[in-house]
Amino acid sequence: MSKWPLDAYLRVERLPTLWCPGCGIGIVVKALIMAIDSAKLDPDKIVLVSGIGCTGRAPGYLKFDSFHATHGRAIPLATGVKLTNPELKVVVISGDGDLFSIGGNHIIHAARRNIDMLVLCVNNFVYGLTGGQVAPTTPTGAKTKTTPLGNLEQPFNLVSIVATAGATFVARWTVIHVPQLKKSIEKALKRRGFSFIEIVAPCPTHFCRANNISPIEALERLQKVSEIKNGLDPREATLDFGSKIVCGEFVDEEREEYTTLIYSLIKERSGKDVRNVVSA
Ligand code: SF4
Repeated sequence: MSKWPLDAYLRVERLPTLWCPGCGIGIVVKALIMAIDSAKLDPDKIVLVSGIGCTGRAPGYLKFDSFHATHGRAIPLATGVKLTNPELKVVVISGDGDLFSIGGNHIIHAARRNIDMLVLCVNNFVYGLTGGQVAPTTPTGAKTKTTPLGNLEQPFNLVSIVATAGATFVARWTVIHVPQLKKSIEKALKRRGFSFIEIVAPCPTHFCRANNISPIEALERLQKVSEIKNGLDPREATLDFGSKIVCGEFVDEEREEYTTLIYSLIKERSGKDVRNVVSA
């Protein structure tokens, strides 16, 4: 049987995944491993961290060292990994609920510190794993299990939040923008600092079904309403599934990185050139 060229990155014995047919999470995983392969990074220097949720299952299918954290705690765990061994490339892959509701406090401080990690946030508009409850990203008016008459709240604009908090690389794509997504992931993997990429992937099973949108219609709508505006102020990067989704790389700037500052301080105080806490 012929093998997919990137099978080396997968725990094939754990396949098939538990994701529903038509779910976009697999597309994000594929873009991630294509980017890692293209960036020619040492797989032994990559650590994947996730929280709880459908997206949080991704590291279980990938052949890297990984942590599956408790709900909302992917960022603190990733911070610990990075601070302990700054030579590692840390990638957090989790959902909008995990990162911005239960873990919302952590992500803004990681962005503020500009700690070197890449956060991939799959925004499916609901809590998918637990049955499709309303999330902080659910569009206003959308029906969910817990808002059967329509959501009254305004959703977060994730790219605006992280950019305001201090993230030095911020992008948004959807699951129909695979080449652009792969390119942004590769760029983020090669840079040093807090990088955030939102991937819009409406949950077919809960969000789309509750709002009478078929999985095909959801993809067609993404195609119809998406526009690319690289360099746009993230506060103006609208995400309205009904009318306009602005995609692109919005922030790409340099600022002192947190682990570099910490290790410089250790060197200054101890006189030792400590490269990581493990070997110190
Ligand atoms: Fe994907 Fe939704 Fe199924 Fe979760 S519940 S795997 S987000 S389609």
